[in-house]
Amino acid sequence: MSHSAFSQHYDRELDVRQLLRLRGVTATLDDAAFELTASERDWMRADLLCPSCRCAGASVVLSDVVKPRGRNTRQAHFRFLDGAGRTAHTLGCDFYPLDDEPGFVRGVDVQFSANDKDTRVVRELVCKAVGAGELTRADIYAMRSWFLAQRDASTFDVRGSSGMVDWLWGLRGLPTYEAVEFKPFHVTLPGFDTRNALRRHMAFLYKDFLAGQPRVPFDAPVRDRAKRLLTAHQGGQLIMMGPLREKFDAAVTLASLMVQYGELKLSQRRIDYFGKNAPPALLALSATLLFVSDWHLDAAFERFATISATALPADLTAGNVMGLNPFHDFAALEIARFVASLSPEPGRAYDLQAEFEAVREMIMSTMRGPPPTPP
Ligand SMILES: [Zn+2]
Repeated sequence: MSHSAFSQHYDRELDVRQLLRLRGVTATLDDAAFELTASERDWMRADLLCPSCRCAGASVVLSDVVKPRGRNTRQAHFRFLDGAGRTAHTLGCDFYPLDDEPGFVRGVDVQFSANDKDTRVVRELVCKAVGAGELTRADIYAMRSWFLAQRDASTFDVRGSSGMVDWLWGLRGLPTYEAVEFKPFHVTLPGFDTRNALRRHMAFLYKDFLAGQPRVPFDAPVRDRAKRLLTAHQGGQLIMMGPLREKFDAAVTLASLMVQYGELKLSQRRIDYFGKNAPPALLALSATLLFVSDWHLDAAFERFATISATALPADLTAGNVMGLNPFHDFAALEIARFVASLSPEPGRAYDLQAEFEAVREMIMSTMRGPPPTPP
């Protein structure tokens, strides 16, 4: 699902609203009865390309029926399918449907939770940036092509089970800073506590292993997403995000500065990335500003200041990068890559509860046994 498409005829990237305006189609997108004519659909299919990988096969999916409170559950967007009804995007493309089974055709159930406000804010910023000469359409396309090449260049073979993600998720709660190997004499000490000793020993066992796991926020949505990616792409390939880490750090930092210093009225959705609250809606623009600034944060932030002070141009079809986050699924892909990098031991269940029980039994049997000889 892409919220914009590249028009060869108009030589620019457009969202559905902008495209319809340029095509002289006046019907409102919120009109449930509205249908594009067959000739208009044919024109679009022949003209429009994916803004990232430039594949063809475009069709417009209009917003769904307006809810009583005037909010769409699905924003109008573009879909790119090949002749067989499969996704036409390349693997590294921003719009490759990562969360679908290969070959699965996306239906009309795409949920896009009322972020029209975010889209408007970003569209206005991009138009101001183009108006101020801080960004050109060529820059936006060059940024996209650069990311596409980066992602296509680094992939990994998908191995490992979704159960291993759960196992890793359980491990992350271990107090590695309190890791202590259990020794029989510990039970003779007056303050010995089985539960505490168990956690410390498990932490000891996994301390080095956990030091090697990816440095990403690993919350429940990331866990579930990583499991889904592993399952859907088992035996196939996925993009390795690690090489883009520095760029991701910079884009998140700039996006959080933009929302704060620019007092941008965005929805409350944020990526919690090590204390930086970056709105995902801004990451595409933030990455573009960094890209044209040779990834220098100060220079990119200065561009934003210029954009901020620029008056809104009358023509809001100048171009956009809205809705497109070149780092989407960064954390989940990193977790999936880490799990795929582990060589699963044959027969191992990756059952963390069972591992805890085994260590508990080892401690308990020490306590039941003859008094340990002093060290
Ligand atoms: Zn594409």
